[in-house]
Amino acid sequence: MSKIVMKTPLVEMDGDEMTRIIWQQIKDIVIQPFVDLKTEYFDLSLVNRDLTDDQVTVDSANRTRELGVAVKCATITPNAQRMEEYSLKKMWKSPNGTIRAILDGTVFRAPILVDGITPFVSSWKKPITIARHAYGDIYRDAEMTVSGPSTAELIVTYPNGQTQIKKIHEFSGPGIILGMHNTDESIGAFARSCFRFALDVAQDLWFATKDTISKTYDHRFKDIFQEIYNKEFQTLFEKAGISYFYTLIDDVVARVMRSEGGFVWACKNYDGDVMSDMLASACGSLAMMTSVLVSPDGKYEYEAAHGTVTRHYYRHLKGEATSTNPIATLFAWTGALRKRAQLDSLPDLEDFANRVEKASIDTIGSGMITKDLDALLDHPNKMTVNTSEFLKNIASRL
Ligand code: NAP
Ligand code: MG
Repeated sequence: MSKIVMKTPLVEMDGDEMTRIIWQQIKDIVIQPFVDLKTEYFDLSLVNRDLTDDQVTVDSANRTRELGVAVKCATITPNAQRMEEYSLKKMWKSPNGTIRAILDGTVFRAPILVDGITPFVSSWKKPITIARHAYGDIYRDAEMTVSGPSTAELIVTYPNGQTQIKKIHEFSGPGIILGMHNTDESIGAFARSCFRFALDVAQDLWFATKDTISKTYDHRFKDIFQEIYNKEFQTLFEKAGISYFYTLIDDVVARVMRSEGGFVWACKNYDGDVMSDMLASACGSLAMMTSVLVSPDGKYEYEAAHGTVTRHYYRHLKGEATSTNPIATLFAWTGALRKRAQLDSLPDLEDFANRVEKASIDTIGSGMITKDLDALLDHPNKMTVNTSEFLKNIASRL
């Protein structure tokens, strides 16, 4: 059998711990027997990030800007304990944060739905994708406690010395204040990523803020989305038969709960943080959640939503075969291969990506699962297997 040929290489970002082990297994068992895999390899393991002073992360993101599509393994974000465990030179920043800053992207997360694993929200039949704005608001705020009676004001100073002043509150006793910001540029980039992604997946886009209360701040988000939609996307949306829908955040939450899914839900930074955790738990497992970073100029970085599954890795190091779920990491690979196939017009490769996803869902549907799915899957004869047996079953269906 001849292997499927690729044109442009993927940017391959390898990672840490259990997911690094699974990464290799996915390539060996599912992909390379069928595809003449072309990648440019970057080792983002913590050891190599430390060795290269984190230059490898920057290089991999810059190469993604050039080649257009990357697939990333989960990586350790160092903390004090990791500093010691890996004898690090420095507490390197989160690779995802670095990559996101270079690609200026928006993160889209969607659950993988399988028959037999019923979401806790019984009306949901199709996946809901959450798009989280990854810049500003309370994540870049300035906060203060106020110790007693005082006047709190917002002051903006322009380079020419001109100022804008607005009173926040006249305090009669102790209290707290917070200042936060966003930029037209970042909101615009977020909006374009969302519109483009909705077109890509041919699904409606929903967006919500609290503009009735926040008449300047949240209203700016609403206006920027609407302006960009009218100018750049309305015609494309109409042609694709999809729609853009704006409402209030409380209204959207009620509608999401009653919906059957199958749309993209754009969220401000905090809403996206909270709502993606709700979506993941309502759908069962973090191991069944995909994630893709899309830049406003159409560069893509695919990954799993979960981390490096440390506890399983320590068991692996003791020689145990673990039953870690490889689905989200495998779908990062299929997502990247499908996007590459579409950009390079390679129907065989696109078909392969689709078949791997179907084979994965069929394997779970047959009752063969990893341990994390045991409590979630409703099936008369379930069989829990280890990761490599699970991947071999998927490959056997290709
Ligand atoms: P985690 O790796 O997602 O794991 C948390 C727990 O969720 C695991 O202990 C496991 O539960 C379960 N789990 C997650 N993925 C699973 C899978 N594929 N199959 C089966 N069970 C799975 O999160 P964490 O333990 O908080 O973080 C570990 C490391 O990952 C940290 O160093 C963190 O910095 C990093 N991290 C990286 C990313 C990223 O690169 N995108 C994201 C998050 C965290 P049981 O142990 O109960 O089986
Ligand atoms: Mg959260």
